[in-house]
This record gives sequence, C-alpha cells and structure tokens, in this order.
Amino acid sequence: MNEVVQNQSDIGDLLKSPNISRETKDWARDELSQIQYDIDLLLLPNGFQEHLVDYVKQEYESYNSDGERTEPLCQCRNSGCDLLHGRLPSCITNSDDLDTGLLGFKRRHSGEPSVLIEARETWSDRRQRVLFVQRTVISALVGDEPVQIDAPKAFQ
Ligand SMILES: [Zn+2]
Repeated sequence: MNEVVQNQSDIGDLLKSPNISRETKDWARDELSQIQYDIDLLLLPNGFQEHLVDYVKQEYESYNSDGERTEPLCQCRNSGCDLLHGRLPSCITNSDDLDTGLLGFKRRHSGEPSVLIEARETWSDRRQRVLFVQRTVISALVGDEPVQIDAPKAFQ
C-alpha cells in the first residue's frame, strides 16, 4: 500500500485512541492541516500531472514577468519548444506513464529540459516532506507528546 495512505490510516487510528491526551491530538490535527493540500495532491490519481502543469506554468510566469526565475525553462534553442512557451509537450501528457514520457522526452530533446527535471525533484521533495511530517506526528502520538517539527530545509 502507498505509504502516505498507510500513514494517514495509522494516524486516524491513533486519533481515536482514548489513551492519548486531547492536547496531543489537537496538535497533531493542526500539523496535519498544514500539509493537507500536499496530501490531497499526492493521493490524486493524476496528482503528478497536475503538479507538472502547475510548476511549468508558474516558472514560465516567473521567468517572463521579472520574477525570481532567471534561467530559461529549457536549454534548447528551438523557438517551437513547448516548454519555452510554458506548456507541457503533448508527447508527455499523452504518455501512459508520465515518468516514462518524461524520460523519453529528455532523451530525444536537443537541450536539457531544466523545468521538467526541477518539477520531478520538487514532486519528490513534496512527498518526502509529507512522509516526514506524518512519521513525526505518528511517533508524537504514540509517545503522547507534541514535538517541534523542523522539516529539513531542502523540503521547504
Ligand atoms: Zn526545449
């Protein structure tokens, strides 16, 4: 079973336990509410695709409106490149498996598709952060003691 789902189920059971104080449970619910958006996205069947589309769009806007991004979305010099126009190439969106589609595109493309590589990494960071918070919440519930959650910087 998906680890995120398993953790949610374990947390649900712990929150029902009469042996854990209300204070710890309230703390746990508060911590979880802060990652709820990420949990929902991770559990959507097409969550990764939504993340990809949003990430490419967001970076495109940042690059074209004097935002934080200073590097082009793709290193190729092809003016017809979808990524340079803030779109996901259809050969990726039409692929049965997005990871396979990404790899194939990367292999065939004439320049490094930076934005896709970053999107893959930020998706994986998102998952790692959710798992980190879930595991911390579980052990705090088991010990019936709230803790300070300091996620590693790379996850933020
Ligand atoms: Zn390109």
